[in-house]
Amino acid sequence: MMMQSFQPPRRVLMGPGPSDVGPRVLQAMARPTIGHLDPEFQALMEEIKSALQRLFNAPDHACVPLPAPGTAGMEAAIMNLLEPGDRAVIAVNGAFGGRMADMADRAGATVVTVEHDWGQPVDPARVEAALAEAPTKVLAFVHAETSTGVRSDAATLCGIARKHRALSIVDCVTSLGGIPVDAAAWDADVVYSGTQKCLSAPPGLSPIALSTRAQAAIAGRKEKVRNWLFDFNLLMGYWGGEGGRTYHHTAPINALYGLHEALVVLFEEGQQAAVVRHARAHEALVAGLEATGLRMLVDEAHRLPQLNTVLVPDGIDEAAVRAHVLKTWDLEVGAGLGPLKGKVWRIGLMGASATPWHVRLCLTALCEALA
Ligand code: PLP
Repeated sequence: MMMQSFQPPRRVLMGPGPSDVGPRVLQAMARPTIGHLDPEFQALMEEIKSALQRLFNAPDHACVPLPAPGTAGMEAAIMNLLEPGDRAVIAVNGAFGGRMADMADRAGATVVTVEHDWGQPVDPARVEAALAEAPTKVLAFVHAETSTGVRSDAATLCGIARKHRALSIVDCVTSLGGIPVDAAAWDADVVYSGTQKCLSAPPGLSPIALSTRAQAAIAGRKEKVRNWLFDFNLLMGYWGGEGGRTYHHTAPINALYGLHEALVVLFEEGQQAAVVRHARAHEALVAGLEATGLRMLVDEAHRLPQLNTVLVPDGIDEAAVRAHVLKTWDLEVGAGLGPLKGKVWRIGLMGASATPWHVRLCLTALCEALA
């Protein structure tokens, strides 16, 4: 069979990620590939490290982009901090908290999950009660639960971890760039994200930040980290930059050009301005949805601007609506996961997809589909 070049259709991405990627990022990724040990590329790596410190507000954390999607940040955080027999408290209020618990179990930890109904934020009182039961190495939770559209209180939860001498792991895959993420103010130990949500770069990289406490815990492990690629003791020889770089893996060079450009774009706009843009787009979308009689799953106080879960009205075939708007409007919206399957649509307003134009298109397409 003769292979032909793949020409993707034009789509407007308003699902749970990826979001629309702007032309500047795509053009940056098309620039010539150079060697990953080239001095020019090493200078770019240094600039990305500093930019990630600014992005996470983590001036004292070690920040690197891992060469794999957001799940890599989760896997790296859990596998590096947990050793067999360690106690881990994991707050589960959706699909991604559940994934963290599964990973901690695979790391050999004694896992205590604090389960919540999907659509609810993590309850600090219940998490604190679980931490108070026994000495705990790690508290892990999701800041912005993409499966439900719920925001949890990261500052309070990290504070509880510190009080009980546990290290905190905060999943910021969907939050980073869309709502404030502040590793320094939270005093968080590990925060990680992905590039394909509110940063509007293609998927495939996972920015991560580690506190000095987390780094010390990893350096003092009794056992080797079980996965080689994400072992920070090895990885930092490549990204650490002190005493010259030693080969560890071949960095995804052009993907890093894309992340770099996405950060240039974000800092030009201003992080605070980007947060306000997400909030305004969300308010307009919710006002429009409610005006048509649709209802949101999550209470207003806990809603994420960048991920809107809309209840499917009785008698409506939610998959048929998604298929229709994709075919007729080239518009991608997301389906529900787990217990929310068939019950909600997930409408993303992430990064470059958080604009008044996107809101208008989505409202017009949904109204037409539901008419
Ligand atoms: N954590 C959260 C909150 C997510 O939304 C996602 C992806 O949607 C992930 C982790 C995993 O990221 P990825 O799909 O890039 O591996």
